[in-house]
Amino acid sequence: MVSRVIPVDPFDLVIFGGTGDLAQRKILPALFRRYCAGQWNDDVRIIAAARSAHDQAGYRAIVAESLAQHAPRQAADPGNLDGFLNRLQYLRLDASSDDGWENLSGQLTDLRIRAFYFSVGPGLFAPLAEKIRQHGLANEQTRIVVEKPFGHDLDSARALNATLASYFSENQIYRIDHYLGKETVQNLMAVRFGNMLFEPLWNSQYVDHIQITVAETVGVDGREEYYERAGAMRDMVQNHLMQLLCLIAMEPPAKFDSDAVRDEKLKVIRALDPVQPHHIVRGQYSGGPDGPGYREAVGNPRSTTESYVALRAHVSNWRWAGTPFYLRTGKRLVARSSVINVIFKDAPHSIFGAEAGRHANTLSIRLQPNEGITLKVTIKEPGQGGMRLIDVPLDMSFAEALGPGNQEAPDAYERLVMDVIRGNQTLFMRGDEVEAAWAWTDPIIAGWQARGDVPKPYDSGSTGPGDAELLMKRDGRHWQGIKP
Ligand code: NAP
Repeated sequence: MVSRVIPVDPFDLVIFGGTGDLAQRKILPALFRRYCAGQWNDDVRIIAAARSAHDQAGYRAIVAESLAQHAPRQAADPGNLDGFLNRLQYLRLDASSDDGWENLSGQLTDLRIRAFYFSVGPGLFAPLAEKIRQHGLANEQTRIVVEKPFGHDLDSARALNATLASYFSENQIYRIDHYLGKETVQNLMAVRFGNMLFEPLWNSQYVDHIQITVAETVGVDGREEYYERAGAMRDMVQNHLMQLLCLIAMEPPAKFDSDAVRDEKLKVIRALDPVQPHHIVRGQYSGGPDGPGYREAVGNPRSTTESYVALRAHVSNWRWAGTPFYLRTGKRLVARSSVINVIFKDAPHSIFGAEAGRHANTLSIRLQPNEGITLKVTIKEPGQGGMRLIDVPLDMSFAEALGPGNQEAPDAYERLVMDVIRGNQTLFMRGDEVEAAWAWTDPIIAGWQARGDVPKPYDSGSTGPGDAELLMKRDGRHWQGIKP
C-alpha cells in the first residue's frame, strides 16, 4: 500500500529561529522529507532567519549536516539534498529590533501562501507578530505558526492570545501541539469514528477506566532553565496529555473539519472536574548510574519542580460520568512509551466460575514507539485440562500492517507543516482550547504552591514514585506496565 501524495500550492515559509534546535532537528528535516516525497516542488522558498551571521553556503552546510542526521535515507541522495538546499535562504534578522526586516520584505513573493514559523523562545512571539504587521509582510494568505509553550498560565495565555489577535485573525494562527500530528493520534479518530465496533462501547457503561501514559527515559538535559520554571504539569499535562484525553473522550464531531473537531475537544476540557489533591501525585527523579538527579541537573538543591505527575481526572458529562481517566507522565522512567489503554469492564457474569479469574478487555493505542493498536481478548487456553482462560493480544503494528515501503512513519511535523500550507487547522489548538486547558491546570499548580507541596523522589529507570501505585490501588486498579 503506497500513500498518495497530493502536492501543495507554492508557498513562502519563513522560519524564525532557523539556526535553533527545533528547526534543525524537526522542521527542516520534515520539509525535506516532504520535498523528497514530491509534496512540494521547486517553486517554493524557505527563508531561515536568526541573528547569527552565516553566509548562504555556511548555513546550507549546517542544514546538510542536520539532514544527514535526521533524515539520513533521503539525504543519501545528492539530487534530493541539492534540490532542497537550493530552495533555502538564510537571512540575518533580529526579532526584537528592525535589523534585517527590509531584506526579508524584499525576498517574499506576492500573491501566494506566506507562512511564518515562530521557532523562537516564547518571549519573541508577540514582538514577531508586531514586526510582521509593522513591516507590511502579512498578506491575505498569511499564517503564523506558534510553538509551545503557549503561555505559562491562564493570564499569560490570554494576554498572548489577545496580542496575536490584534495582528492576525484566529484562522491565521496555528498553535502547534506536535502530538496531534502523530499518525496514531489521528488514527485514534479513525478507529473511533470510522468503525462501528468501538463507539457503542465507548462510554461509562462499558469502559471501566482509561489510562494515558507518556513516559520518557530522558532527563531535563539541555532544557534545565525552561523546565525548572515549567515542570511536568505545564510541559506535558496541560497540552499533550490534555489533547489525548480530548480525542479519547470527545463526542463525534458532525464532520472532520477544524472547528467541528475543536468545538468537541473544548467541551471535554470544560467538562473536566477540578482535580482533588489526593488524586494527584508529583515526583522528582533521583540520581543513579545513568546520570544526576533532577535537582543536581537543574543546579537547584531545593527545587520543588515535578518531573513526574500522575493524576485521576473526571469528565463530568453524560458519556463519562463515573469513569476515571488516569494520566501519568514523567522523565527518566523505565522506558520511552506513549500509550493509551482503554480498560473495559468485566463481563457481568462469568459462566466459567470464579476460578476462571477476571478478564477485562483492554484496547491499547501505542503512540510511540512501534505505533499501533492491540486489543486484548480472552480465549480458552489451548490444550487439555478444562476451561482455563487466558488473555491474548490481537496486535496490529501500523508499520507491519501497511507493508514494506511504509515502514517509516511520517514525523508529526511533516503532517503539521503541510497542514499549515494547506490551511487546515484541525490538528492545531484554538485559542479558547488553550485557555480552557490552563483554567483547569492553574488551580492544581496554585494548590501545590499554597500547600508548599514537595514532589516525591523516585529512582531513575523506575515507573515513578510509589504513591502513584497507591493512587491506583486505592481504587482497586493498577497501572499497565511501561514497556518499550
Ligand atoms: P533554540 O535552540 O534556543 O533556538 C532559538 C532560535 O531563535 C535560534 O535560531 C536563535 O538564533 C533564534 N533567536 C533568538 N533570539 C532571536 C532574536 N532576537 N531574533 C531572531 N532570532 C532569534 O530553541 P529551540 O529549542 O529551537 O526552540 C524554539 C521554540 O520551539 C521555543 O519556543 C521552544 O519552547 C519550542 N519547542 C522546542 C522544542 C525542541 O525540541 N527544541 C520542542 C517543542 C517546542 P540566534 O541566536 O542566532 O538569533
